[in-house]
Amino acid sequence: MIREMICVSCPIGCALRVELDDSGKVLSVSGNTRKRGEKYAIDECTNPVRMLTSTVKVNGGSLPVVPVKTSKPIPKGKMFECMAAINNEVVDAPIKLGDVLISNVCDTGADIVATNEV
Ligand code: SF4
Repeated sequence: MIREMICVSCPIGCALRVELDDSGKVLSVSGNTRKRGEKYAIDECTNPVRMLTSTVKVNGGSLPVVPVKTSKPIPKGKMFECMAAINNEVVDAPIKLGDVLISNVCDTGADIVATNEV
């Protein structure tokens, strides 16, 4: 099977072509200008991860929510579970930039961190 994708590891955005066997194992990667593109393609085919950004509800603050993000990329398959955890969370003001609002969200090893203050 052939999978085509755009490498997002740098602004050049090379068009990658990935050859996979029937079990999903990567056989070859082409189109990448650097080694980084090959790693991106393999990760994207075997364990795709994304940063998650959202907001958490705040009690008693100047704003009703605080923007948050994961401290590192999390598996794509955990996105909905993590969004549910974020949506269920309510924190009390004051919130400072960088505060950890949820530790090890859904056992991903990532924290949910405030990206502003309220
Ligand atoms: S393959 Fe290399 S040069 Fe091309 S977008 Fe990815 S990181 Fe950038």
